[in-house]
Amino acid sequence: MDTKAFKRSLHQSENYHRRGFGHQNEVMEVLNSEYQSSLISQIRSNNYQIERGEVTIRLAEAFGFCWGVERAVAMAYETRRHFPSEKIWITNEIIHNPSVNERLRDMKVNFIPFNGAQKDFSVVGAGDVVILPAFGASVQEMQLLDNKGCKIVDTTCPWVSKVWNSVEKHKRSDFTSIIHGKYNHEETVATSSFADKYLIVLNLKEAQYVCDYILNGGNRDEFLDKFKNAHSEGFDPELDLQYLGVANQTTMLKSETEQIGKLFEKTLMQKYGPSELAKHFMSFNTICDATQERQDAMFELVKEKLSLMVVIGGFNSSNTTHLQEIAIDYGIPSYHIDSESRIGPGNRLVHKPLSKDLETVENWLPSGPIVVGITSGASTPDKVVEKIIEEIFTIKNT
Ligand code: SF4
Repeated sequence: MDTKAFKRSLHQSENYHRRGFGHQNEVMEVLNSEYQSSLISQIRSNNYQIERGEVTIRLAEAFGFCWGVERAVAMAYETRRHFPSEKIWITNEIIHNPSVNERLRDMKVNFIPFNGAQKDFSVVGAGDVVILPAFGASVQEMQLLDNKGCKIVDTTCPWVSKVWNSVEKHKRSDFTSIIHGKYNHEETVATSSFADKYLIVLNLKEAQYVCDYILNGGNRDEFLDKFKNAHSEGFDPELDLQYLGVANQTTMLKSETEQIGKLFEKTLMQKYGPSELAKHFMSFNTICDATQERQDAMFELVKEKLSLMVVIGGFNSSNTTHLQEIAIDYGIPSYHIDSESRIGPGNRLVHKPLSKDLETVENWLPSGPIVVGITSGASTPDKVVEKIIEEIFTIKNT
């Protein structure tokens, strides 16, 4: 499929909207009252710190809603205003935050049913409005909605579109796209839909496996089994690892994406020699600024003497999970929670340890004076962070 031509024709369609509807000011007022927090503004202006009784809170210097998420949520609110009586759908959670998604449900914005394996688009009718979330939608989904005669409101973050453009460039040169991401994450599903040949690697370990295969060969069946959900149809490691371009899910750990890019570059240089490298490898910087800033701020925060860290964000939020990984790497007790409702009664917490199910912990806030580091993922409104801080103050100071 010529994805570029399809996108071009979609962008010209009168049913396609990606620039809002001119209700920005009214919507901003509502968003500020629903998601902003005066306590967080106060902490920001106090050098990202606040003390109350036995508790010192240290906030990361970059956290919470990123530009792309704020834009997507604002566009969803605008869409409701612009189409007051139409049926509105979202192909997926607009962002990975339960409170924001709940609020949209209250506004009668419906989520396309998903049975764990596939989405049921039969519920969507001609003339319905369908919002594509900040992390985008696959080209097949866009085509299906366009064919149905839906009005499409595309909130895909421009940073994500930038990655898609890189993948289009790989395709034009008949290169395989190596995508650093999670094969079942919506953004990576969307990105891979723009590629011709692709292979998704989760981490440096998987990238190393692929590079060893490039240099030394290996067992083809084992390779295909290892990446069974993570490659394009008909992928052949013997043929399709000679010309490579690297792309990434925008919310992966920045340092790891860079290391993976360098590893493939080095491997292809070793295999084909420095003079041939440019013919075999291409790479574009597509790490999103917001992800980078939040991770950098976390690296600063963990240098401080913290009693513990609270990492706030949806449990399926990739960028939040990476923030927690940083705390763990630095040996700081850390708790990933998605809302204030995980706290209490009393000094109890339900949290999600990395790669595990939810766990309950008693007396999670130690006695005596404590310093609590706090950060939140790019989908988390300040209001949620405020409520969590207030809960911590209440437990420790009453
Ligand atoms: S994290 Fe980056 S890519 Fe994702 S929505 Fe925010 S700004 Fe866009």
